[in-house]
Amino acid sequence: MSKFWNKTTTSLEPYVPGEQPKDKKYIKLNTNENPYPPSPQALKAMQEAVNGDLRLYPDPTCSDLRETIAGYYGLTSDQVFVGNGSDEILALAFQGFFSPDKPIVFPDITYSFYPVYAKLYGLRYELVPLDDQFEVPIERLCQPNGGVILPNPNAPTAKYMPLGGIRAILERNTEHVVLIDEAYIDFGGETAAALINDYPNLLVVQTLSKSRSLAGLRVGMALGNRELIEGLDRVKNSFNSYPLDRVALAGAAAAIKDDSYFKETTQKVISTRDAVVLKLRKSGFHVAESKANFIFISHASKPAEEIFLALREKAILVRYFNKPRINNFLRVTIGTDAEMEEFVRAISEIV
Ligand code: PMP
Repeated sequence: MSKFWNKTTTSLEPYVPGEQPKDKKYIKLNTNENPYPPSPQALKAMQEAVNGDLRLYPDPTCSDLRETIAGYYGLTSDQVFVGNGSDEILALAFQGFFSPDKPIVFPDITYSFYPVYAKLYGLRYELVPLDDQFEVPIERLCQPNGGVILPNPNAPTAKYMPLGGIRAILERNTEHVVLIDEAYIDFGGETAAALINDYPNLLVVQTLSKSRSLAGLRVGMALGNRELIEGLDRVKNSFNSYPLDRVALAGAAAAIKDDSYFKETTQKVISTRDAVVLKLRKSGFHVAESKANFIFISHASKPAEEIFLALREKAILVRYFNKPRINNFLRVTIGTDAEMEEFVRAISEIV
């Protein structure tokens, strides 16, 4: 508490990101990063950008990157927005599309940034509880509301809703923005980007942090009809007219273009995940069905917090959430095969 803070700052309960230890001794399975490096093409493009003209401001419209992304998804560049990580795009969407008079609905349990933004921007929200299997009850998202936000796959449960479910939500929610946060879609899900031309209120938000191994670069994107993109542009330009720097613009475009590297590394993560899930289930763990680069696990006889602390002792970091309903679960990011072998060995010794 400080006398220099205003009322908003004083009342904030900011989001706490996962730990980034300086010590390299840990096997880091706690923040859903990709275990593989970014595309060599992306690294080369960034090196060239560093050696290029950093003296000059970047392109405020990010037009080359937007065109590259549009080409990738079969859209036009005015249906694409890019920002400094998808967190920034989510913040702009909260400011641009929702009003204080009607609540935004999102699942309870979900990405914990959503309630933080809602509070920051003075917006109401209503939580829709997941069922016993952590499935999102579609009906409840279709009650009168001022907008819908749904991560697909959901975080931290890793559960995926097939496009039929997304379509059902869109059919019944036509008056306000339906935002699908697809941070983890590339690990086995199908993007809703193909529905954009059918539903003018659909905004799909994605990131290069996970499937393209560029969490450190901070690049996210939103796909939607032009009015929504213009809305994001209006908020962004009132706030920071240069969302991405020259290095990020170059690296992100090259990463999107290097599709074979992207496919190879995401496929590797998927097959490692599926093998780990089988092993953990054999060892008595409950593992929620995952289409993400992480898994959500619990054990019938050993509390999650104890497992979390014991893994930490063994220099393995995973994520534990001390929250109702999920405080007996751990979220574990999928690492390399070698890291996951070490993880399975360590956790088997603990339970
Ligand atoms: N959405 C979800 C569901 C996430 O888990 C994350 C990562 N923590 C983000 C968005 C934000 O990702 P970034 O800002 O790195 O693009």
